Amino acid sequence: MDYCEVLEKVLKSNVVWIEAQSCSGESVSILKSGCKALDEMFFQSSPFKIFSLMCAEKSGLEYLKDVLSQEDFILVIEGAIPKDERLCYVGDMTCNELIMRLSQKAKAIIAVGSCAVNGGIIRELGYMGVREFLGKPVYEVPGCPASDKMMIAMIYQALAGGKP
Ligand code: SF4
Repeated sequence: MDYCEVLEKVLKSNVVWIEAQSCSGESVSILKSGCKALDEMFFQSSPFKIFSLMCAEKSGLEYLKDVLSQEDFILVIEGAIPKDERLCYVGDMTCNELIMRLSQKAKAIIAVGSCAVNGGIIRELGYMGVREFLGKPVYEVPGCPASDKMMIAMIYQALAGGKP
């Protein structure tokens, strides 16, 4: 199976992708892969929900409601988590609260990019990685930005039931 075929399978799966304090480097890496499956994600309904610069189909608050009602999904987190939760919001909810709530229902959690792995370049400014925030093991894909192929491979492995 080539990369675009794996990407297509991932995009047809129940995945919730949340950006915390991020420059969107990982989302953009996925977007520039050039695979046709990405067009389908934008122009057809897909279970892959990316709460990022590219959630155009619905308003932020509607999308947030949609994301919170998901069951049986893989949670992907891009960006660092602030120790002071007032520094990061998604819609009307702090990133910290949203990630904590989703993490309690997710089948698996994947931190993508060095910011999500350990706070990255803003760690010294009072940020941390997902594992430290949640206090439990998560899959991790470091890099700045993380490699699109490594991220998609990791999501694919998590969908297949591999353990972090
Ligand atoms: S790891 Fe790098 S690319 Fe990813 S959000 Fe942080 S600064 Fe941006």
